[in-house]
Amino acid sequence: MNFLVVNCGSSSLKYQIIDMASGDALMSGKIERLGEGRTHRDAVREVLEKAASVEIAGVGHRVVHGGDSFHDAVLIDDDVVAAIERCIPLAPLHNPANLAGITAARAQLPGVPHVAVFDTAFHVRMPRRSRTYAIDAEVAARHGIRRYGFHGTSHAYVSDRAAAFLGRPLDELRLITCHLGNGASVCAVEYGHSTDTSMGMTPLEGLVMGTRAGDVDAGVVLLLARELGIDAAEQLLNKQSGLAGLSGLGNDLRDIEAAADDGNDHARLAISVFAHRVRKYIGAYAATMGGVDAVVLTGGIGENSRTLRRRILQRLEFLGIVLDEDRNADAKPTLAEPVAAVTTETSRVPALVVATNEELQIARHVQATIDGARQVEAKRPIPIAISARHLHLDRKTMDALFGAGSELTEYKPISQPGQFAAEQKVNLIGPRSRIDGVRVLGPLRPAVQVEVSRTDEFRLGVDAPIRDSGKVKGSAPITLEGPKGTVHMEEGLICARRHIHMTPDDAKHFGLKDKDEVEVAVTGGPRDLVFGDVLVRVKDSYRLEMHIDTDEANAAELSRGAAGDLVYEPAPSGVQGALRGKRAK
Ligand code: ADP
Repeated sequence: MNFLVVNCGSSSLKYQIIDMASGDALMSGKIERLGEGRTHRDAVREVLEKAASVEIAGVGHRVVHGGDSFHDAVLIDDDVVAAIERCIPLAPLHNPANLAGITAARAQLPGVPHVAVFDTAFHVRMPRRSRTYAIDAEVAARHGIRRYGFHGTSHAYVSDRAAAFLGRPLDELRLITCHLGNGASVCAVEYGHSTDTSMGMTPLEGLVMGTRAGDVDAGVVLLLARELGIDAAEQLLNKQSGLAGLSGLGNDLRDIEAAADDGNDHARLAISVFAHRVRKYIGAYAATMGGVDAVVLTGGIGENSRTLRRRILQRLEFLGIVLDEDRNADAKPTLAEPVAAVTTETSRVPALVVATNEELQIARHVQATIDGARQVEAKRPIPIAISARHLHLDRKTMDALFGAGSELTEYKPISQPGQFAAEQKVNLIGPRSRIDGVRVLGPLRPAVQVEVSRTDEFRLGVDAPIRDSGKVKGSAPITLEGPKGTVHMEEGLICARRHIHMTPDDAKHFGLKDKDEVEVAVTGGPRDLVFGDVLVRVKDSYRLEMHIDTDEANAAELSRGAAGDLVYEPAPSGVQGALRGKRAK
């Protein structure tokens, strides 16, 4: 399955098409100079023309500001579009561009789900103490003035990668993740959740960035507004500050580093202010979290500039971080090998360089949101039928047990259409003991199949394999006794494998196919239980129903009328999971 990921800015559209099976980008690119006679609609058309040969199953849209409204990625509908519009005052530069991309892509790819993934969502549960600005509370509430945080997609992604690299669960780690690109932010990821981050109500707060000032005294903003006017002050703080403003050399760190090497003092100051600010936040977040287990550097600068990494990480031994100069010089994370440690083997707190992959993370959100929506829609409880021991007969054995030419007569219909419990019963005789009066199910089948529980097997003194219905070859022997005769079967006794019957419509609903395996949870009773290895069987003539035997039902304390639900994976870093235990045969 391939997802198109769209990151729409005011003057450019970046895109990737990601193959979810491998996580690789099949195509990627950037369409620039939007606004100069070229619309977002033109850009989307261009992308779709280039991607004509690829089937796109869904689209993920990066949306910068989700305000208070969005705690997670969402399927886009008209209400979601309206809610993103309402967040425009909070992100006047970004949200309109994101919306232009959404509108254009929904118009041109109407048949697939579109998912909005918000930069702010990862930070939505930041505690009050870190999200609150100490200004008049009533004014703040009226204007939605609080800290929201951004770059959530990247902070979440690199946190997952770091935890995997360290071989520890994310919910046991206190991480400080530093996304250092053109935009830059630090995040305190405490046991899997963002508890503080350096960007605030807008992406202007915090670190020194390519062209943004980051933290300045609010008095400076007032002075600039007074002296230059609001628009010019906004322009200065957003576009003419940061590394570019300090160095006078533009926002590309490579140029600034080269100039610094040549002795340019403006360039040196720019680098030193940048590094100082990052160190300051690392120290602050180690303090707010009461410790730190690893520091992560990512983004164009974090992944590439060994000089800045050294400036940021040196002399942090008091925190347990001991930089390894060689490792730092060699670290070059790639998408294929995305994590490299730059601290010594004995450093108590490792510092890791991680290649971020926001597009992949957005694509995962698309997958999870589609699965989640399917799950909600599919919250179709699965009725559970408890099969008591029973057997199916073939023509020949029917003749031997009940007399030549005898027919099964219906006692009562059973839930699967066309099948019935017959009036006829058979006695099972095993080496240890016998079980009398076992019901025959009709109609006749091509082969005899006797289905018993494990408890029955003990009674009979036989050891039957767990088998899918119909697979009796090599199963256990059993003797059948009827009113007109006795038949010894060399095979035919099985312990039926638990399974779900479903129609093709059910299967589509759940996103399953014949022979898949799933997990089914039974909850709400005194002995909640998750059944694994449940086989899915799809046929037009079936009715949705899970079949288990009496032992299994007793283990879950089930009675008639019980139902179960398919189990989905727990969420890695806010991403909702896919069907758990799902295996395709
Ligand atoms: P964006 O926020 O636009 O996605 P990136 O994450 O691509 O930005 O980071 C861009 C920054 O990374 C620029 O300042 C660029 O100079 C810097 N950068 C990229 N490669 C290197 C490198 N090899 N050495 C130093 N800085 C680099």
